[in-house]
Amino acid sequence: MPEGHTIHRLARRLGETLGGRPVSASSPQGRFEGGAAAIDGRTLLRAEAWGKYLFCDFGTGMALHVHLGLIGKFRTAAHPPEEPTGAIRLRLVGEGTTWDLSGPTRCELVPPDEQDRIVSRLGPDPLRRDADPAAARDRLARTERPIAATLLDQSIIAGIGNVYRAELLFLCGIHPARASSAVSDDEFDAIWSETVRLMRIGERSGRITTTDPAEIGRPRSRMRREDRLYVYHRDHCRRCGTPLRTDRIGGRPITHCPSCQPAGRRRRRALSR
Ligand SMILES: [Zn+2]
Repeated sequence: MPEGHTIHRLARRLGETLGGRPVSASSPQGRFEGGAAAIDGRTLLRAEAWGKYLFCDFGTGMALHVHLGLIGKFRTAAHPPEEPTGAIRLRLVGEGTTWDLSGPTRCELVPPDEQDRIVSRLGPDPLRRDADPAAARDRLARTERPIAATLLDQSIIAGIGNVYRAELLFLCGIHPARASSAVSDDEFDAIWSETVRLMRIGERSGRITTTDPAEIGRPRSRMRREDRLYVYHRDHCRRCGTPLRTDRIGGRPITHCPSCQPAGRRRRRALSR
């Protein structure tokens, strides 16, 4: 499933490529015909992300709400547009760019109060300037659930997915099974600031890179795919060589280093800079 940085990047690129001019909208697959007709010929005024949720305002009084889910894709296609292939739920054609949406969990027009309701269920989003991390810190302090589970809980922090949670806990030296309430304020601040830093890198580049270029010996733009992460889908710790462990926490597997992320006691943070 795409993590928050992907949706923020998508919102930004939709705004850059479609904003300011009328857009033609259609539903080649037919499942969003009415919605597409309502925005056809309108101008995209604003596209924004909240965690993994995308909202586009075409000035109709209803927002286009898209949630990609596990298999959804919203990507640019040939321009001028060609005959659609596959099940394209929504096609948006601007002056120089064509976008095709396929396989979303949600693609609907929602009134403002429904958009507010969706957003009100989400925790602060590290990529939004209006994010208030204090709300997430307070929620974590009150639950014994493992930190690896609460980091995936979109109602606590919106946007973190399975790759970032593993990398964040490694970088902060925190065992994934540690009770959320046992994460200190300093540790929470480190998790939050690393989330903001890493997700901004991801938003700019379109891919998740958590490793420090100084450690890898080349800039992020020239890193090999296998050098981009510390623990996710790896066998041995990049820093200490210890065989990594994978446990199922919060319904998803998480890989961690028993040495860099010891259980029970706190360890000096090993943040990359
Ligand atoms: Zn290690």
